[in-house]
Amino acid sequence: MDICLKCGGKPPLISQICHKCVRETVIISRLPEVLRMVDCKSCFSLKIPGTWLEFSDIESAVGHFFETSIIWHDNLSKNTCNLSMKQLDPSKFRVNAKTEANYGGLALESNLEGVVEIKYQVCQTCSRHAGGYYEAILQIRTKQKSVLDAAVEKVFKDIDSAPSEFFSTENGPVKGGFDFQLSSSERARSLARELMIQFGGHVNETNTLVGRKDGRDLLRHTFGVRLPSFLVGDYLLIQEKVYRVTRLDRRKAKLRLMESPYTKKMIEIDTLRTPNILDNPIEVQIISSRNNQFLLLDPYTHQTVEAVSPSNWEGEKVEALRFGNETFFIWN
Ligand SMILES: [Zn+2]
Ligand SMILES: [Zn+2]
Repeated sequence: MDICLKCGGKPPLISQICHKCVRETVIISRLPEVLRMVDCKSCFSLKIPGTWLEFSDIESAVGHFFETSIIWHDNLSKNTCNLSMKQLDPSKFRVNAKTEANYGGLALESNLEGVVEIKYQVCQTCSRHAGGYYEAILQIRTKQKSVLDAAVEKVFKDIDSAPSEFFSTENGPVKGGFDFQLSSSERARSLARELMIQFGGHVNETNTLVGRKDGRDLLRHTFGVRLPSFLVGDYLLIQEKVYRVTRLDRRKAKLRLMESPYTKKMIEIDTLRTPNILDNPIEVQIISSRNNQFLLLDPYTHQTVEAVSPSNWEGEKVEALRFGNETFFIWN
């Protein structure tokens, strides 16, 4: 019969050691002698080899540092760790941890206590912020305010949801559009591309030499994004006919004629430099109708207007659009 190698006791044994001896000899966790971490004094990011990890407060950073500092015994499973901490002074935390783990089917635990010392520095992101660092300029240009507002909103959203190393040092309206100074050329380039895909238009990239570092040229990239003057869903008046913009992609716009025969066509955006954009459609009250003869109330002038519906019209509503002093009706 197998017996414990340490005390000669009876099974059950784990690696030929009885449970009682395992409990006395196996220590599941311990701490290194020194617990010293480097933390950003302005954003609480924790320095780890090669980068900085973001945390929302100092306690979370200390907790992460402590947990990853624990040295676990080999051959454990289901390791868990419960922390409590107390700040001793601005750069010292006492941390207590209850650690538990499974060793060969036996649940073991041990308590740890350590003092974490914090050395404060400024992370790369914060120092770049403070220094007004930027790699790229994104220039958004369009004649139409609604297009500009939508594009600027998209850029701000992208910056907000990006990791903190992507930021805008400065931004603001300029003549003809809006400029962003951005911390990453790569992200500025992909943003410019996304804008072009979403809104149509084109991007022009130029580089300027701003210095040299470690034997390499330092370039600043400028991405000039020229957007069309209209958005998907806008109504345009082209040669006295109303078209709806149904799709925009880079240099092309897809338009749908809003009267019979409702044809669709693709056009080059550049051919619509100063398009006639109609106001938003307003629903029209139908006063009377007989076959395709309609009497409509023009919502802009409050006068009744005779109109003829498209042949076999089975739509639900009539809408009115205004351009200058003229009202255009569309049959939906
Ligand atoms: Zn034993
Ligand atoms: Zn920082």
